[in-house]
Amino acid sequence: MDTTRSQQLMAEASKVIPGGVNSPVRAFRSVGGAPIFYDHAKGSRVWDVDRNVYVDFVGSWGPMILGHAPEVVLEAVRAQLGRGTSFGAPTELEVRMAQAVVAAVPSIEMVRMVSSGTEATMSALRLARGFTGRDLFVKFDGNYHGHSDALLTSAGSGLVTLGIPSTPGVTAGAAGDTIVLPYNDIAAVVQAFEARGDRIAAVIVEPVAGNMGVVPPRPGFLEGLRAVCDSFGSVLIFDEVITGFRVALGGAQERYAVTPDLTTLGKIIGGGFPVGAFGGRAEIMERLAPLGPVYQAGTLSGNPIAMVAGLALIGELSKPGVYAELERKGARLASGICKAAETAGIETCCTRVGSMSCTFFTAEDVVDWATAATSDTQRYAAFFRGMLERGVTLAPSQYEATFTSLAHTDEDIDIAIAAAAETLEELS
Ligand SMILES: *Cc1c(COP(=O)(O)O)cnc(C)c1O
Repeated sequence: MDTTRSQQLMAEASKVIPGGVNSPVRAFRSVGGAPIFYDHAKGSRVWDVDRNVYVDFVGSWGPMILGHAPEVVLEAVRAQLGRGTSFGAPTELEVRMAQAVVAAVPSIEMVRMVSSGTEATMSALRLARGFTGRDLFVKFDGNYHGHSDALLTSAGSGLVTLGIPSTPGVTAGAAGDTIVLPYNDIAAVVQAFEARGDRIAAVIVEPVAGNMGVVPPRPGFLEGLRAVCDSFGSVLIFDEVITGFRVALGGAQERYAVTPDLTTLGKIIGGGFPVGAFGGRAEIMERLAPLGPVYQAGTLSGNPIAMVAGLALIGELSKPGVYAELERKGARLASGICKAAETAGIETCCTRVGSMSCTFFTAEDVVDWATAATSDTQRYAAFFRGMLERGVTLAPSQYEATFTSLAHTDEDIDIAIAAAAETLEELS
């Protein structure tokens, strides 16, 4: 595999961009080797700058649920480009997007658009605090909610991968109102609320954890969070930046039939453009400026290019049979890899919810961060490299999801399974 051009670009990048990348996990630190620079992508494939081609299961970390550069999104974007790319004034597109989100996501009565998932979670948390008049909030070990100060404690993936328990630059004050509890442990939540429930503004949770690998919620966990928040008057926030429009049109809240008070969205709803959104019960959302006292704003919020891209994508996802097909493809890939590991005699814990899946290299049943952390990340790194050399891209970290898209054909998936079988046999 020739990677000359990628290496040249990395050398150049490292002089002018910290670590050569604009988001840490892209640097391949946890899997070793130099990152691959991409040139273009279409459908299930990406091409790098050295003309290698890969079947891609990263999908830009989630947004590419239709595959790369889908015509329906490109057409919508092309049509909008000639009409202007940002106005800083209200547009009909934003109304249509809000209507589409309200129609799709069970808990959302009103929604506000922002430009990233980080902004969405940061704003939802501020709103929950403003609404309740309380300071504390609960988050779960290994859940990631973007990189705002208060949320950057025990935060999964990027941080886990880099081995930074909490980052310099976040003050004790900013982190001090964060109560970190083990994922899937409702008893710990009840205990925390019994001690300080009247001071807890919100619980924020990834309803399917996707930033410590993929960890599904245990039966009763999400229902338990709903019940605890109800009895203490706290706001339940589902961070559906990954799961929204991924595990069902209405996200994890539709799939598990548990309704949060606020929901954060991102990734898929921008159709590959920078976007985020937060929404929920009107009673809470009406506390936002200019209606209410909780301030939140954004120059590029509701950007028309992102809106048309997202709307085109949601339109496709609203067609009948889409989620059944994603389920089928996700299952084909995950069970194929899992069987290949079994055949090779390598112990794995395979997790999957719909089209997001993960292969943990551990004999433990992964239910939280402590068990996820038992995974042999060196072995994952070798697996990652073996797959890459065979023309299949997985996330360059154990603690990320594998995303199957509608563009993956059964043939693509079987290529990945065959690559996995060869790689795992080599590793055994
Ligand atoms: C990606 C992600 C975020 C942050 O979104 P950005 O657009 O990267 O800021 C927040 N929450 C979850 C669950 C995510 O996966």
